Amino acid sequence: MLSIAQALARVLSTPPTLEAERVPLAQAYGRVLAHDVRAAIDVPGWDNSAMDGYAVRAADTASPPVSLRINETIGAGSFGVFEVLPGTASAIMTGAPMPRGADAVVMVERTDAAREGVVRVDVTAALGEHVRPRGGDVAEGEVVLRAGEHLKPSRVGLIASLGHASVAVVRRPVVAILSTGDEIVQPGEPLGDGQIYSSNNFALAGYVLEAGGVPLDLGNAADTLPAIRDALQRAIALADVVLTTGGVSVGVFDFVKEAYAELGVDVDFWRVAIKPGKPLAYGVAHRDGRAVPVFGLPGNPVSCVVTFLQFVRPVLMSAQGVAAPYLPLVSARALERIPEHPGRTKLLRVALEQTPDGLVFRSAGRQSSGVLKAMAHSHGLLVREADQGGVEAGELAQVQLLDASALGGEQLGFGG
Ligand code: AMP
Ligand code: MG
Repeated sequence: MLSIAQALARVLSTPPTLEAERVPLAQAYGRVLAHDVRAAIDVPGWDNSAMDGYAVRAADTASPPVSLRINETIGAGSFGVFEVLPGTASAIMTGAPMPRGADAVVMVERTDAAREGVVRVDVTAALGEHVRPRGGDVAEGEVVLRAGEHLKPSRVGLIASLGHASVAVVRRPVVAILSTGDEIVQPGEPLGDGQIYSSNNFALAGYVLEAGGVPLDLGNAADTLPAIRDALQRAIALADVVLTTGGVSVGVFDFVKEAYAELGVDVDFWRVAIKPGKPLAYGVAHRDGRAVPVFGLPGNPVSCVVTFLQFVRPVLMSAQGVAAPYLPLVSARALERIPEHPGRTKLLRVALEQTPDGLVFRSAGRQSSGVLKAMAHSHGLLVREADQGGVEAGELAQVQLLDASALGGEQLGFGG
């Protein structure tokens, strides 16, 4: 059996190929940059005033108060006409370009605020005071964002401030999702004897979206070799990454492994020392000379989600060039005992809570690989290494954070 780290190293070594594509800025949110973004212009484009006030020659203000003759008023969006000669000043608004000859701005509150004629300046201006220099925020040629960075709103705004209308991002990986099993029915259909609704197609599609992928739900294949083989073949033809669920254990009706063999999927491993999630298969199919990773995830809903998060999510993220493709780990204290046996690496569903004494957790429900409700009520996965058992109440342990809403939200204490 492989450790999680060994299995991860294998799956990360054969990523799908994702090219760059150019998208309009309004569609770039959440995408991953394909190339560095370099500034083609200076921001700001010219020296400008940080204040409403008067553009002056700093040397003229050495012995305040001083009276300066007003040349003109310069608003944002227009350049002044006059040079600021010794003994003169130009009234200037925030964001307006500095006039020739001026080297500082005196804010209006430090003057008599005269609109025309002569202004009285009551302070000494330092050279460059209240002047935002050309290129002071971003200099032409500067790399402002790196390939692999996620385009959060402020980054899209930054790209817009440089005048780019579109941006090169990594193509989103298309991820085929195929459940298997004679007992599986999609929601909305009537439930026959012995049948259950598929949760895997839907939970996986959501996690694929969260990882930046495009889910392609291929429904369910019955437990026959031809049905699974044909559906798998279609999935390999259509997608960058293929996920199947169920049918990878040693049950009599488990045809997924045979289907892999018939389709020439190079099977790399079968079993990983992880709980939940032991029956996990991984192989690589080839289409047009490209690697198409194929994951045979367990059928049990919790195992399916947990193995997706540990193995498939990092592949999707790193294929997009994201530098940190793993989920964050946080330290939290157990509020109760959660029993477990040593053996494989265990990932237990826990609910987190932020308290004045730090993060604490309790079990999110029954720790069985079929109980999706506990997964749905969890904020993270408690990590117990192979040589560890469960946790005792009061013990500090590592939790893989799945849901940052567990950290809560606070209104700022205005005036408090
Ligand atoms: P298997 O690996 O095919 O033996 O499936 C293991 C368990 O997961 C069985 O109880 C299946 O009924 C269940 N299961 C398989 N596929 C799904 C699915 N798509 N949604 C919910 N449960 C499933
Ligand atoms: Mg099955």
